[in-house]
Amino acid sequence: MAQSSSAVVIGGGIGGLTAAAALHQQGWQVTVLERARSLEPVGAAISLAPNSLRALDLLGIGEEIRDLAAWQGDGGLRTPRGRWLSRSNAEAAAARFGGPLVLLHRATLVATLAALLPPGTVRADATATLADPGDSGRPARVTTADDDLEADLVVAADGVHSRARGLLFPGHPGAVYAGFTTWRVLTPAPGERFASHETWGRGCLWGTHPLKDGQVYAYAAATAPAGERAPDDERAELLRRFGHWHHPIPAVLAAARPEGVLRHDVHHLAEPLPAFHRGRTALVGDAAHAMPPTLGQGGNQAVEDAVVLALLAGDLPAYTAARLPRTTAIARRAVRAAGMSMAGSRVAAAVRDTAITALSKAAPALLLRGFDGIADWSPPYAAGRTPARNR
Ligand SMILES: Cc1cc2nc3c(=O)[nH]c(=O)nc-3n(C[C@H](O)[C@H](O)[C@H](O)COP(=O)(O)OP(=O)(O)OC[C@H]3O[C@@H](n4cnc5c(N)ncnc54)[C@H](O)[C@@H]3O)c2cc1C
Repeated sequence: MAQSSSAVVIGGGIGGLTAAAALHQQGWQVTVLERARSLEPVGAAISLAPNSLRALDLLGIGEEIRDLAAWQGDGGLRTPRGRWLSRSNAEAAAARFGGPLVLLHRATLVATLAALLPPGTVRADATATLADPGDSGRPARVTTADDDLEADLVVAADGVHSRARGLLFPGHPGAVYAGFTTWRVLTPAPGERFASHETWGRGCLWGTHPLKDGQVYAYAAATAPAGERAPDDERAELLRRFGHWHHPIPAVLAAARPEGVLRHDVHHLAEPLPAFHRGRTALVGDAAHAMPPTLGQGGNQAVEDAVVLALLAGDLPAYTAARLPRTTAIARRAVRAAGMSMAGSRVAAAVRDTAITALSKAAPALLLRGFDGIADWSPPYAAGRTPARNR
């Protein structure tokens, strides 16, 4: 048997693990280098839309993930006092996009992806540096504190603050603060029933969604100076900002433990990269196109990138051509969605709410229409097709 091509993946997040699994399935010899001591993602959930679920189908885990997740789409958009602005349902979402939007624990997704890899593929506690992106005449090179690895392909999936991106594109300004911060928390379900919702206020929003295991995933976002943190704790901060909003928000906050509330400022690439590759090195996920989480597509796009990269791995210019225009367009939509969902002035928020109410009456699928051209994506190549290899 011919010796298989080798790939080194920097970063064991959703993008890196999906790329590793997809490349492994195509016969590559893969090593994943992850700087954290283990593959434990933040204690939060992630929503996956039919676009990435179809990509996961190619890896053979789409159905497993759908089974482990709760269907999303039942519920809608509300005002802080609880008035519904727009409603949607999961069946309509599934019919529109050829499958459901789902919500699951990040840890479940990571564990399912990691289980596709042979033992020993992932090296934790291994901070990696891209030493040489390689070219057609020489392999790429990655160093860690312990060794120096050569590879036919390096996949830099090292996240929004990617150092590999900075090395490949030193003239690019890198990630910038998006102007808002986020909180995430997992809690037991509140006693009283509730409908899944996202609620838009002035300069802030809140979402509450059930998970399949009975827990609840809640998130919030608000415009705030970069780096600002609560003087006491983040649960107290959420109570001050959202404790007077409609049910189930106060109940979710009552059930939250202060130490369980995660807070992260949002950074994104306001300016797209000129390419997603240099030499034998490809950027995947947030490293390539970090976007605000307002469409819930950052992880979905990382999965799409990874699967397309594995199918095209011999041809990195084709990877850039396949991925850069799509992800740039989605990132721009996510920025626009952030501007709308967190409109800051009283007038802008009132105009927005009135428009949504009117448009929803005229076109009930308003919320779902926001995912047209995104959630209906399918991998462009048939499953099982052997890709060209890096030469
Ligand atoms: C509040 C919030 C909610 C979100 N909700 C959703 C959602 O519902 N759906 C969705 O699709 N997306 C969502 N996203 C976006 C999603 O989380 C990201 O787009 C996704 O995690 C990106 O995956 P990644 O693998 O590219 O990067 P990351 O998840 O950041 O992984 C990068 C990995 O690389 C490692 N690393 C970094 N540098 C090195 C190095 N030098 N050496 C070795 N390892 C290194 C890091 O430790 C990390 O494990 C959300 C984001 C936020 C902030």
